[in-house]
Amino acid sequence: MVTIDYSICDRMKGCPPARRCPVQAIIPVGGEGFFRRKVERWEIDESKCTGCGICIRLCPQNAISKKPKK
Ligand code: SF4
Repeated sequence: MVTIDYSICDRMKGCPPARRCPVQAIIPVGGEGFFRRKVERWEIDESKCTGCGICIRLCPQNAISKKPKK
């Protein structure tokens, strides 16, 4: 499982990890601007995420990381 650091994420609509996630587990919530250039936040759908780590490598802001095990 992965987690998003919302203090780093720039919330861009064209988020490369969201586009490349093989199971579409990175979901946009809300948006702002005429063309909705930014989303309110990206969320990880934990019921879909396989923890493959592709998004960690693709995030230009390094905002995604492995979630610590409980
Ligand atoms: S770890 Fe893999 S499955 Fe999970 S959100 Fe990232 S790219 Fe998608």
